[in-house]
Amino acid sequence: MTRRTVTVLTAVTLALSLSATGCVKAQAGAQCRSTDWGDDGSSVLRCERGRWVRKATKAQVTELIVTLLRARQTTQTGFPAQPSVPGQNVTFGPGPAVNPDYYLKADTIQAIHVLTADGVDNPTVTQAIALDATLIDDWFAGQNDGRRLRWVRNGPAISVVTVRVSQTRAQLDSQQHSAVFDGLGPLMVAAGVVTRGRISLVWIDAGVPGSWPCGEGSAYQLNSLSSGLAVNYMASCGIRPGMWNGGIPYLMVHELTHALGAVEGAPPQGCAPHRNGGHVGDDPRDVIYEGTTGRDWDNLMLDPGHDDYFKLGANPLGCRDLAAHPAWM
Ligand SMILES: [Zn+2]
Repeated sequence: MTRRTVTVLTAVTLALSLSATGCVKAQAGAQCRSTDWGDDGSSVLRCERGRWVRKATKAQVTELIVTLLRARQTTQTGFPAQPSVPGQNVTFGPGPAVNPDYYLKADTIQAIHVLTADGVDNPTVTQAIALDATLIDDWFAGQNDGRRLRWVRNGPAISVVTVRVSQTRAQLDSQQHSAVFDGLGPLMVAAGVVTRGRISLVWIDAGVPGSWPCGEGSAYQLNSLSSGLAVNYMASCGIRPGMWNGGIPYLMVHELTHALGAVEGAPPQGCAPHRNGGHVGDDPRDVIYEGTTGRDWDNLMLDPGHDDYFKLGANPLGCRDLAAHPAWM
């Protein structure tokens, strides 16, 4: 999925800036340092190139749909030293613009259970997510000669963080899925669970059958700190963690493949020859196959032909190759 609504991002960012604690006192035009958000009592401002710039009135901001209530359980014991990957602003225009920088920043994956305001915090769901994350990890390792993706861990176990958002299930479901998708990255950043260089893997109990997709994934994020997002909308299709009987959690494997960069944006001329939108259409074994026949569920692979996005070999055209993604340890 590559749809993006810049206005939604701006709105969400503003909403978050208001909900953040310790909002900086600001005055339009006054000098400032940093890129902080500020507040002059009636408007929200941002420090840009050394001056405070008014971004929206508070009345506008209070109308915004997504706000963060609180984040909990951000345990990161055992997490290796945070890699020093500097974030930078990535701007996406209308339609998918390619900024290759995203590719160099996302080197760690965080599993996240997002609860709605009225959602029940059921520990068995979190446990099921942890199990799925392990299966996802194993599947990707099997695709890359045992090389594993880097996850935020609690000791040896993959960490699953739970975040509760301020909206009810009904409020989320009344929105376009794309608005929720675009809001999730910034929310996770504001919740403190996603920092620079992390890919968010989100299981959320929201979604409208028949109108929302089962999941979405994209390496493109409307927030410079969040470097890739894969979402399982559990209520859309009834696809939930723990339902795979030890098999491959297909949905999240598929969405994570998108979040790692396959096959979005505009690859260089001649790259991803079997591209079909954000998918590929040549081989039903491909985990992001979308074509005229059914998927080969028993033999799912990353780019089995090694000609579209994974293990491209000599790669004379310099095409984007998931095997070179920094999330591999
Ligand atoms: Zn897809």
